[in-house]
Amino acid sequence: MRIFLSFLSFALSFTLLQASEHCGTHPTSNETQAIFQYRQELKSLSSFQRRSSNEIVTIPVKAFVIDNGTGVNKYDVQTFLTQICELNELYAPVGMYFYLASDVSFINDSRYIFTDKVTDDPEKLLGELLFHYYLPNALNVYYTIGTGLCGMAPFPSWSNRYEGRTGVLMEANKQCAGVGTKTLAHELGHHFDLLHTFQGYESNSPLYSEYVTREPALRNCETAGDGFCDTPADVLDYSCPYTGTAKDLKGAFYSPDVSLLMSYHKDVCQYKFSDEEIAHMRDILYNDPYRKVYLNNQITDFSPLADTTSIELPKATESVPYGSPFTFQWSTVPGVDAYLFKVSTLTDKLVYQEIVYNRTTAQYSFNASDVGRTFQCSVIPIKFNRPCSQSPQVRRFKISVPTSISDLENTFNQFTIYPNPNKGNQTLSIHFINGLKPQSNSLSVKILSLNGQEIQHSILDNSFQIKLNQSLAAGVYLVQIIDGENTFHSKLLVQ
Ligand SMILES: [Zn+2]
Repeated sequence: MRIFLSFLSFALSFTLLQASEHCGTHPTSNETQAIFQYRQELKSLSSFQRRSSNEIVTIPVKAFVIDNGTGVNKYDVQTFLTQICELNELYAPVGMYFYLASDVSFINDSRYIFTDKVTDDPEKLLGELLFHYYLPNALNVYYTIGTGLCGMAPFPSWSNRYEGRTGVLMEANKQCAGVGTKTLAHELGHHFDLLHTFQGYESNSPLYSEYVTREPALRNCETAGDGFCDTPADVLDYSCPYTGTAKDLKGAFYSPDVSLLMSYHKDVCQYKFSDEEIAHMRDILYNDPYRKVYLNNQITDFSPLADTTSIELPKATESVPYGSPFTFQWSTVPGVDAYLFKVSTLTDKLVYQEIVYNRTTAQYSFNASDVGRTFQCSVIPIKFNRPCSQSPQVRRFKISVPTSISDLENTFNQFTIYPNPNKGNQTLSIHFINGLKPQSNSLSVKILSLNGQEIQHSILDNSFQIKLNQSLAAGVYLVQIIDGENTFHSKLLVQ
């Protein structure tokens, strides 16, 4: 018996390992029993009410993105807005509409970035987040990285573990929280007390493992599995269409519904909740003491924004100089709560994002190494009640060397070069002025042409001299010295 049990626990840990790529909400048998008991208790309350899904309930969402201050978790707020949009489509049959309680907050704290997905405990981490960063009466969603999961969400009956605070932990990578993924919809299913459709399948006990049959005298679907009879018995399986050959405890082949969001079948196949699941989620929303607080914040204004914005700066054919901050500008949209301003690469890699209030400008500085590259900026007007009503305005632009030296004004007058003018082959001697005393004895020095081409890259040693690698043609050059975060420039004239 002992050997048999060991084998079982091995089999279970193996499936949990696989499952860990998807969702961290895995109640034990005891916890599942407690969930069933909680469902019964809720329904026996004298105040219990059941409302039809025709009655739309609006739920405020507060998102937190965890960063360690270095942009390590650059979760794109635009992706989050799209996720809320998609969530509203998936939850329309449930009669739930999600909107933004306020903007997205960034948490600069490396303690909440997972460093070891084996020893770090997502449930504990979520608990700490709920205590330090929390908006009452809203659905709090935390985007972090490194969990080894796609997400996890405590059940209503676990609320006492968090002193009644509720929230969802999400992994911010594209596979879990990208456009078209279903993790958030799935985790919210747990948040509203839904179990996996394959719950208990591995237990080898009819107490937990659901039979395929729906014959009234033979079935156990009310008390085993996820507790719903309109979700077919399922097995932890990622295939879609289903290709598994597993059998239930009575020897019947499983025939799961791969479209159910609470299964593990691929995201691309999942799009719905069953009628019983929907009724239960709504029962929880109206009766669970820590979920019904969402009812306090009902919105009635669903009107979309009438206008879109247009990007005014940079102009369509304008390039953006590197060095000093460039001011991006766009047109005002009446009735907007905020704007999401983004700079990204042409492959949509996020470079910078900012949620902008009460102004229609944002600033960003490009580096000399960006010269010649093309970037794009985008602006999305955000109305919290309608998180997906606007599509972004996008402008592409190239990074150039400033056409006017005045653009780099505050980076000049920090050092002089001798001899200057130069014959094009004479060693440059650097003299710092204005009291500037760089600490490093290995400063990075670049010689650039005025169109931004790097001609030479050297390290400045204690002698503060730069030997030219090649003979420079007559013309004007920029000498750039980088000292940590500071960049200084001087003009070099070659005659
Ligand atoms: Zn799950």
